[in-house]
Amino acid sequence: MIPRLPPFNFLDPERIRRIILENIKVNEASIQKLIETAKSDVGWEAIIWPLESMDERLQRAMGIASHCHSVIDSKEWRDVYQHCVGAVSDYYSQLGQNRDLLQLYTQFNENSRFGALSSVRRRVVTLAMRDFRLSGIDLPESGRDRFREISRSLSKLQARFAEQVLDATEAWSLELSEPQQTEGLPEHVHRLLADNARQRSVPGLLATLDQPTYLGLMTYARDASLRRDLYQAYATKASDQGPDAGKWDNGPIMEEIMSLRHEEAQLLQFPTFAHLSIECKMASSPEQVLDFLRSLARQVRPIAEKELHELSRYAFERDGKSDLQPWDMTYYSEGLRKEKFDISQEQLRPYFPLPTVLKGMFVICQRMYGIQLKEEHDISTWHPDVVVYAIEDEKGDLLGHFYLDPFARMRKRGGAWMAGQVNRLSIGDGIEPPVAFLVCNFTPAEEGKDALLTHEDVTTLFHEFGHGLHHLLTQIDEMPVAGINGVEWDAVELPSQFMENFCWRVEALPLISGHVETGEPLPVDILNKLVAMRCFQSGIQTVRQLEFALFDFLLHLQYKPGQTSGDILELLKEVREEVAVVFPPAWHRFPHGFTHIFAGGYAAGYYSYKWAEMLSADVFSAFDEEGVFNPATGHRFLHEVLEQGGSRPAMDSFVAFRGREPEIEALLRQDGIVR
Ligand SMILES: [Zn+2]
Repeated sequence: MIPRLPPFNFLDPERIRRIILENIKVNEASIQKLIETAKSDVGWEAIIWPLESMDERLQRAMGIASHCHSVIDSKEWRDVYQHCVGAVSDYYSQLGQNRDLLQLYTQFNENSRFGALSSVRRRVVTLAMRDFRLSGIDLPESGRDRFREISRSLSKLQARFAEQVLDATEAWSLELSEPQQTEGLPEHVHRLLADNARQRSVPGLLATLDQPTYLGLMTYARDASLRRDLYQAYATKASDQGPDAGKWDNGPIMEEIMSLRHEEAQLLQFPTFAHLSIECKMASSPEQVLDFLRSLARQVRPIAEKELHELSRYAFERDGKSDLQPWDMTYYSEGLRKEKFDISQEQLRPYFPLPTVLKGMFVICQRMYGIQLKEEHDISTWHPDVVVYAIEDEKGDLLGHFYLDPFARMRKRGGAWMAGQVNRLSIGDGIEPPVAFLVCNFTPAEEGKDALLTHEDVTTLFHEFGHGLHHLLTQIDEMPVAGINGVEWDAVELPSQFMENFCWRVEALPLISGHVETGEPLPVDILNKLVAMRCFQSGIQTVRQLEFALFDFLLHLQYKPGQTSGDILELLKEVREEVAVVFPPAWHRFPHGFTHIFAGGYAAGYYSYKWAEMLSADVFSAFDEEGVFNPATGHRFLHEVLEQGGSRPAMDSFVAFRGREPEIEALLRQDGIVR
């Protein structure tokens, strides 16, 4: 098995490849043997424990390949990763279809020893059997064949949907004439336009539909007709409308995807795909999701209308503009935002030297959870920037290790994430403490100086650290439900978003900020402005998210055989009438580019974003009531949520902490919707 703290200075990609492939082979043989011998002795030690340790071994090896591919990419690591990721996914999909294995689980589930298991172990078995069931394994022969066919078709169609969006996005471009079309553009957008032109070997400046360019132009371009053209191209991509009408039309693909999803759900005995989606979520029923979205919409919409009114007035006073169009929204919003809050992220950097922020974050965790964080100096890492920390409990016992890789550099993937490398696992009499990798992409320090973070960076660090704590502080010894494993996907962002709250609290400022020259914490009036800026147009933002979420959910809940893409658009129109404040033109084709639900994993699950925000805001409101650093509240959160991991339903953990089910009031307060 790969050591708990891997010898990074000796890692050889070829060797990791051999270990992964060898692990797969050994696991397959062991599972076969287990099936043959376990029949007379169906018990935890005979079936589940061996499977858990096989899983851990393979995941550790694959974890190294995927991590190195992400943070020290090279041709060798990429080859190993790409080769192995396919082999590993084949291995797991065969495991999910192994009927002999399911047979063992079923026998175990039914025998008398099952009832004597701990609730944690019973949950491991229950979740495993649920996953078997959702992979169609216990359908009759013909149903199984059809299920496999549907899965294959769906993955092809979903990939096709995403490709068409990409092709349509890349196909469109517009040469801009200076100066009339570039008026108002800041330097960085100008540079993007020049880069676009260079990349496509045309002279001058080129507008394209990729995110940074599109957003840059919609935010700053003074020329309203340019914004309109751009908006139209963006809003109609991969559809039957707009400049490339019909060329990559996703309409028929959406119809097919919806029909297959519905059939898949029905094969598995669910009335609709929305019911199937809810099966693995914290929300307990489609009605609960709809209630949540609609009661949020009822409270937020009047605020969004007020914000829109303020924006219209601003546009009229500034430019005499009387009919604000959808393509004017971002542009005037930016103007209004600037007028109200003249704060830039760059000017905040001196207040947030990385060592100060880390020290403050650790002090917060010590006060809240009674844990100690210590830097370790003798552990090998993949890059000199990486620092390793040990986490110890109040008695000084080791709880886990994490590696922090803070800075952007060549051959490192962008973004920020937490990866669990080692799961908490019981081995003989002892425990193998978990290990996590925390990866960010902050601007590196100048030679000999401390790196300085923006407030957004600080929030990102707290967010990923929250995921890390969830993985590292678990007290559950069964790997499939330890830490974030087995946590419902609409609840998995709770600890991360919860930790972000400290970045917005005046109580935390003296701990996490200190001017690089004077040591002075971030002034309270600047924080207040930041908080106000965070709430700027939160009504408009929220109803937009609610529109997407409600559309996605109803689409999967109300599916009728023979539904056309016209029906899909009709549903979106109804949803808008219910929740929206901005109404796009009739040619708008938002669904045709909605990759989250047609190509990603968010089908009948887009609501999860808001749901998790509700959870984290509601949890933090307990700290508002009981004291921001109240150790009793902190320990309650530690014991009832962080330590429990996926060992019980997330709703049980939530109720154990909060004393009731989640409510939306705290989220409304956090967004400045109610006071
Ligand atoms: Zn996250």
